[in-house]
Amino acid sequence: MNRRVTTTSVPDEFLRRLRNVRLLGLDVDGVMTDGRLYYGPNSAEFKAFHALDGSAMKRLMAAGVPIAIVTGRTSEAVARRASELGVPYLYAGVADKLAALDELAARSGVDVNAMAFVGDDLADLVVFGHVGVAIGVPNAHPDLIHQADYVTSVAGGFGAVREICDLVISARSIRR
Ligand SMILES: [Mg+2]
Repeated sequence: MNRRVTTTSVPDEFLRRLRNVRLLGLDVDGVMTDGRLYYGPNSAEFKAFHALDGSAMKRLMAAGVPIAIVTGRTSEAVARRASELGVPYLYAGVADKLAALDELAARSGVDVNAMAFVGDDLADLVVFGHVGVAIGVPNAHPDLIHQADYVTSVAGGFGAVREICDLVISARSIRR
């Protein structure tokens, strides 16, 4: 557990595909978090993000790959996290994630097939056949695991996003 993934443990073919990724799309619940929603009094809602995911997201964006957060839910915590990290694209309360990615493509100038997307639930499955690289987490619905080009070694909320950001950064610097 917590096996360190290095670029040498990832198939070359997958790294080549990651090298062409121009934008990373992330689901929130189950990907940037472990999927649990903490409810407080009134409308208070809490999520636990991983600091290591955040620093890797910043590194990836600094390396020239923008990030989009695309989530079915709307929460102040996500808006705050996105703003804190300087994530340029946030789609919250999204019913149709493919429609959101099409809109994102128009806004960002990045074709959907040049995007990678990390998801965990059936709402993410609609984009898996359209993005350039479809990525699942080990805690994802089995249908996503089945369709994914890659499944992270660690679960959502525990460094899955860092794993992908680091792999994309490595893929961009490696020639083999
Ligand atoms: Mg999710």
